This record gives sequence, C-alpha cells and structure tokens, in this order.
Amino acid sequence: QLKGKTAIITGSNSGIGLGVARELARAGADVVLNSFTDRDEDHALAQEIADAHGVKARYIAADLSDSDAARALVETAGRCDILINNAGVQHVAPIERFPTAKWDAIIAINLSSAFHTTAVALPMMREAGWGRVINIASAHGLTASPFKSAYVAAKHGIVGLTKVTALETAREPITANAICPAYVLTPLVESQIPDQMKTHGMDRDTVIREVMLERQPSKEFATTEQLGGTAIFLCSDAATQITGTTISVDGGWTAL
Ligand code: NAD
Repeated sequence: QLKGKTAIITGSNSGIGLGVARELARAGADVVLNSFTDRDEDHALAQEIADAHGVKARYIAADLSDSDAARALVETAGRCDILINNAGVQHVAPIERFPTAKWDAIIAINLSSAFHTTAVALPMMREAGWGRVINIASAHGLTASPFKSAYVAAKHGIVGLTKVTALETAREPITANAICPAYVLTPLVESQIPDQMKTHGMDRDTVIREVMLERQPSKEFATTEQLGGTAIFLCSDAATQITGTTISVDGGWTAL
C-alpha cells in the first residue's frame, strides 16, 4: 500500500526506528535508514530489509546533533514522501546536576534535528503532491517525570513543532502528527534499567514492573511492530484529516 513512496526514518539502526522501517518496507515503501555510525553492519541492515521485502533500502550516516548533517541526510536521500523523526537519546539527572552538554545534545538530537529534516523534506513533499511527517514523541511529550528535564522539554517541543508543521501544510495533501509511546523495550529503555535498579535498590524484574511500568496501566511494553502499524495508519487515506495531533500508544499511561 506504500509502493512508490520513500520513507526516511531517522535513528533507525536499532529499536523503534528499525522496527518502524521494517513495517514500512513490509507495506511496500522504499526506506532510508540512518544513524551516526557508518559501519558495514548498518549498511547490511538496509540490504537485509531490501531483500526481505523487495523494496529499495539504503543506509545514510548522519550525526543528527549537527544541523547541517540533519539537512544533508534528507538532501542526500533526494526524495522524502514519509519522514519519520525518531532519533532520540536520554539522560536522567536532577536539574541542578544535569550536565549542560547532555542538555544541548538531547535538545539537538531529539528536537532540533526534526526541525531541520522537516525544513528540507516539506518542499520535496510539495513537489511530489503528497507527504506525511510523523514525529516519534513520547508519553513524555504530554506528561512529565522527574530527572528527565531535557527529554521532557524536547518531547513537548516536538509536539509543538508537529502542530506548526500541520498548520503550515493544512491546505496541502500533507499531514504532520506525533506518535506518543510510553515504554517500548528497546536499547534506549534497556540502558535505563541499571540506573533505575541503583536508584531504587531493586532487582531487574521488580524495577520493570513496579517502577518502569508503574505508570503504564496495561503492565505491558508496547512493541516496535505496533508503532510501525500506527505509522502505516497515519499514511493511509483514512488518516487524511488527522493532522497536528498526537496518537498515544501507551497502554493507558496518559489516561491515569
Ligand atoms: P534506541 O536507542 O534503540 O534508538 C535510538 C536511535 O537513534 C538509534 O538508532 C541511535 O543510533 C539513533 N541516534 C542516537 N543519536 C543519534 C545521532 N546523534 N544521530 C543520528 N542518530 C542517532 O531507542 P528507541 O527506544 O528505539 O528510541 C527511538 C525514539 O523513540 C526516541 O526518540 C525515543 O525518545 C522515543 N521513545 C522511546 C520509548 C521507549 O520506550 N523505547 C518511549 C517513548 C519514546
């Protein structure tokens, strides 16, 4: 159903980005994978997706903490019908001890990169006469948690950027929306577990159930396949009038 469309997915050599890329390719889209590394295994991932789904797939290295590199990613891809702004990093610390460099990196990667890729992608979408901007925000784009100042600020920021993108394209066949997942078990979440275990003095299972999924009423992690399915829905004709909004995939997190 997405045959002939090209999707650029930022931060897609692991986790949600890779899962969404696989689902879009399964639906027939050509995909552009990205991260900041340029290893054989990164390019092999693209080849594997191309072989599995009979689509074109390539990997383009770009460090999205750099504004020029973010813009160059989309320029190098040359075409962008579906833009998935997914790259993201996390750091957990109280505000007074939050390192400035971490704050700057999180704002650059999680928020500013989406501004830069969108700025280059929109003219391509206009030229093609169709486009979808899908920003992977977070339940933390709608609610907050302590010790995640930069992340929560960046995610609220990307929800705002999503709304502006939608308003600036409202009269065109382009939509912009944000998907707001709560916990999905990926390397980003996995890397938080040791810190949380230390902070709370709990073992892995207890920290997952009682701390990480404490606010997730379903007590289940969402899956990357489910997020891919949500993105495909946003690309469908049924979603043509859905723009400038958020879709939570959070097991009830934001209902609490
Ligand atoms: P992940 O660590 O598996 O993936 C992050 C991706 O971003 C990786 O491909 C990584 O290489 C890439 N990346 C990091 N720094 C980069 C840079 N400077 N330039 C280019 N790429 C870079 O994490 P994930 O859980 O898959 O997270 C993906 C997105 O989903 C993030 O924006 C995250 O905030 C969001 N999110 C995740 C969860 C969750 O529970 N996992 C929940 C809500 C939102």
